[in-house]
Amino acid sequence: MTKIAIIGGGASGLACAVELMHTVKNKEDVSVTVLERLTRVGKKILVTGNGRCNLTNMNSASSGYRGDTDFAAVALNRFTPESNIEFFNSMGLYTRTEEEGRVYPLSNQASSVLDALRFECGRLGVQTLCDYRAVHLKTVNTSSAVKIVVNNRDRFDYAVVACGGKAAKVHGTDGDSYDLLKMLGHNIISPAPALVSLNCDDFTKSLKGVRSICGLNLVIDGEKALSNRGEVQFTDYGLSGIPIMQISRFVSVSPSENICIELDVAPDFDEKQIMEYLISRRAVDTGLCENMLGGIINKQLCIALMKECSIAVNGRVNELSDDELQKLAKILKCWRIKVKNSRSFDFAQVTAGGADCSQFDPETMESKLVKNVFCCGEALNVDGDCGGYNLQWAWSSGRSAGRTIGERINNAENK
Ligand SMILES: Cc1cc2nc3c(=O)[nH]c(=O)nc-3n(C[C@H](O)[C@H](O)[C@H](O)COP(=O)(O)OP(=O)(O)OC[C@H]3O[C@@H](n4cnc5c(N)ncnc54)[C@H](O)[C@@H]3O)c2cc1C
Repeated sequence: MTKIAIIGGGASGLACAVELMHTVKNKEDVSVTVLERLTRVGKKILVTGNGRCNLTNMNSASSGYRGDTDFAAVALNRFTPESNIEFFNSMGLYTRTEEEGRVYPLSNQASSVLDALRFECGRLGVQTLCDYRAVHLKTVNTSSAVKIVVNNRDRFDYAVVACGGKAAKVHGTDGDSYDLLKMLGHNIISPAPALVSLNCDDFTKSLKGVRSICGLNLVIDGEKALSNRGEVQFTDYGLSGIPIMQISRFVSVSPSENICIELDVAPDFDEKQIMEYLISRRAVDTGLCENMLGGIINKQLCIALMKECSIAVNGRVNELSDDELQKLAKILKCWRIKVKNSRSFDFAQVTAGGADCSQFDPETMESKLVKNVFCCGEALNVDGDCGGYNLQWAWSSGRSAGRTIGERINNAENK
């Protein structure tokens, strides 16, 4: 009997278990056990995509990833979004593709993705052992072979480290993968929160709850590092929303303390058009300045920007000077907000950094340091954009490890 431990019953671990059992020919000769720290497997899957599970992205190319993208490209090209959708179709789960290539289950329920994996594991005889936290990993030489020992007690022929990264510890992940891999001699690239909101300095609490479509530049040490566009959410601590989360990993990994976001709160106009608009309003509007921009942006934003330009909100629009209009036009296109830092791992969706991919084989996910030990998912130094890229990586890397182990067992039996 060949014994396999999959440490972590999250997205990559469950995909690994299913793929392994789909691959292996003599299923009665293998024992696959998913060791899960929490009371049940796949808790994080249930909260993905706001409970809808954005399970992959049809545009999933390596350009949607950071970290060791060359390493990631191998598994991503082998187990493409189409292949992963077929994988779920084979378990009876069908999907729908929405805007920007985002793929969701037809049921619109993340629970149906988890159920598909759980039921398939059950059908294939995968055992799940919950409330089992792996805290120790080592190898021992026996007379017949090298065994992998979990928690100084349980012996296996293969082990897959699939305990995720450090983000969202409420769902079971606070960096155990790194501790386990370090015990086997692996390097860990400093983990940092990604897909997370940003804490900002001197931020006006009055904007809490405002949402606005904005263009934005991330500026580090005076250099534009990245641009994005989308709905920015203003909160009592700073900025949130998808375009902010997309750029957050660059804030997290930057050593600089000189980081700001340039917000373009009127992205559909250029500065000249805004100036023309302001001049035309001044010509006819005898009302209060606080209402002046209500035709193009949120009123709370208008008030905040007037204050930034030192314009009295209870002044009259028709009394504004050319200089004041210029200042307003400029800040509408480029409102500099100082960034303090990114929020902590507790608020992050994923982890940037993690196990050093150069110590793993990209074709198989096997450790180059310890034979028969594999790693997959967020534990590795790969993180993706918002939009299904991270689960795509979890399925692809998990399936890659599972397929390899299954093929190896088949080959050993043929010898
Ligand atoms: C709120 C939220 C929303 C998200 N939405 C999306 C989305 O819509 N689309 C998308 O692509 N990505 C999304 N993500 C990211 C995605 O969920 C993760 O990248 C993905 O689940 C990682 O898969 P994984 O298998 O590597 O780790 P995880 O899914 O985190 O699973 C790791 C498992 O290991 C277990 N574990 C940890 N330590 C141990 C241990 N010592 N012993 C045993 N078990 C252990 C954990 O309890 C957990 O069950 C979201 C993340 C969050 C937090």
